[in-house]
Amino acid sequence: MDFQLTEQQVLVRDMAKSFAEAELLPRATKMDRQEFLDPEVFATMGELGLWGLTIPEAYGGAGMGNVELALVLEEINRACASTGVTLSVHNSLLGSPIMRFGSDAQKQRWLPELASGKRIGAYCLTEPNAGSDAAAIATSAKLVGEQWVINGTKLFVTNGAFAGLFIVYARTDASVSKAKGISAFLVPKETPGLTIGKAEKKCGIRASSTTEVLFDNARIPKDALLGPLNGGFKIAMDTLDGGRIGIAAQALGIGRAALEASIKYSREREQFGKPIGDFQAIQWKLADMSCQLEASRMLVLKAAWLRDRKESCTQAAAQAKLTASRTANFCADECLQIHGGAGYTDHFHVERLFRDARITEIYEGVTDVQRIVIARGLVPS
Ligand SMILES: Cc1cc2nc3c(=O)[nH]c(=O)nc-3n(C[C@H](O)[C@H](O)[C@H](O)COP(=O)(O)OP(=O)(O)OC[C@H]3O[C@@H](n4cnc5c(N)ncnc54)[C@H](O)[C@@H]3O)c2cc1C
Repeated sequence: MDFQLTEQQVLVRDMAKSFAEAELLPRATKMDRQEFLDPEVFATMGELGLWGLTIPEAYGGAGMGNVELALVLEEINRACASTGVTLSVHNSLLGSPIMRFGSDAQKQRWLPELASGKRIGAYCLTEPNAGSDAAAIATSAKLVGEQWVINGTKLFVTNGAFAGLFIVYARTDASVSKAKGISAFLVPKETPGLTIGKAEKKCGIRASSTTEVLFDNARIPKDALLGPLNGGFKIAMDTLDGGRIGIAAQALGIGRAALEASIKYSREREQFGKPIGDFQAIQWKLADMSCQLEASRMLVLKAAWLRDRKESCTQAAAQAKLTASRTANFCADECLQIHGGAGYTDHFHVERLFRDARITEIYEGVTDVQRIVIARGLVPS
């Protein structure tokens, strides 16, 4: 066993940390209030190679793995969770399935544009009547001549407003049981019949984009099918294994920001003639936060390491997401409490951390779904 990061991992983590502190921290509160990510941030992320972090060098990416992505995502989310989810979805929910299931032609066509950030990726699974029960999707794809024709409505699509390429899950066989009749498609934004619907107003991660995506006889070529016909649900679930590691790393970054803000404030704020950090009640909060964060970090890195080794990481990813997302909410809550009344106002960024932490227990599988996945591994049916 070796807990030492490689030289390359340290380099990429430190690069992400410098970028996050210089470019994201000063903008995060403003972007949150404006509910908009600064395009300059996107451009700098392209220059740093972050859009293509996990895409192989042959396609213009940096060719790194999930461990490096997790290290980068912790740093980015520590500064700005809206930027963090944008990057996580792009790399883990779109780049990853193309690399794992795409044909050579699909890789050649899409990976270079994803690696450069020319096209940002989005993942369209959720629908009005299919959330946790994702296999219940009703969006359909029918082969008409040499084209697939897609009809349906996707909800809550991260990056929807500015994505250039969508992975869309649609029903291709209604005669078989739910999960067996679903296929995955790569759909560029310029597809006739694809429109971006309502943008959601959110509790947290307000600068990130979350929209409806509507398909009205949207026509794509026959070869837009990703992976085997009716094999889409497996792709969706395999993809979420990687995505959950990204969200767990996001939670870790938010939780770490909360601990750091708590330490700083507990040294500065004085009551009863001394810094509040001198009270054991505050010290115990800090100690509990640090233990839960370190445990979460171990789970995140282990799950990422398993995925890089191409071993099954379904349970490990769910354990990491479940633990890290609860930790983020615990830390953000304690952090707000330590800041007292000021923490409840916009005097500090801790109210943003509190709002941003909440989503990590919801998307890419709610907390109860993570429990179901973990229990399934413990008690196979
Ligand atoms: C900001 C944001 C971004 C998102 N981004 C994307 C995206 O990019 N792509 C995408 O496809 N989706 C996305 N989603 C959708 C997200 O993944 C779903 O919201 C999530 O999976 C939960 O589905 P639901 O909202 O329909 O809740 P429901 O499934 O309706 O759950 C409601 C409640 O019922 C509980 N519940 C449901 N089933 C069970 C069960 N079997 N056992 C116990 N309890 C259960 C849940 O825990 C929850 O408390 C996003 C959502 C948000 C809010």
